[in-house]
Amino acid sequence: MATIFSRIIAGEIPCYKVAENEKFFAFLDINPLVKGHTLVVPKQEVDYIFDLSDEDLAAMHVFAKKVARAIEKAFPCQKVGEAVIGLEVPHAHIHLIPIQKESDMLF
Ligand code: 5GP
Repeated sequence: MATIFSRIIAGEIPCYKVAENEKFFAFLDINPLVKGHTLVVPKQEVDYIFDLSDEDLAAMHVFAKKVARAIEKAFPCQKVGEAVIGLEVPHAHIHLIPIQKESDMLF
């Protein structure tokens, strides 16, 4: 059965899309820690981020960096932090989280 993220990528479940390329997809988290909290996922269904090939892991981070720069413009903040959790959804993903101050860091 397809993961919830695959169903989002396929357009079966609505989301607020932030960016997309041929391999990766970025959309706002439905339960954001802060405004602009974004998830970056590979279109390939892989359980956990460190199960990706080295090449895809690197490409995912290059894509995430571009998305982070766009988030910084859309949601003024000091920086965009990255977190890898993966407790809830078994489909590899990176959390991109705008941070206002060092004290706002949750991870
Ligand atoms: P994790 O697996 O890293 O613990 O967390 C998964 C993240 O996916 C959570 O932050 C959760 O809010 C988000 N999430 C789960 N289901 C959906 C959904 O249907 N739509 C969106 N936009 N985000 C979701």
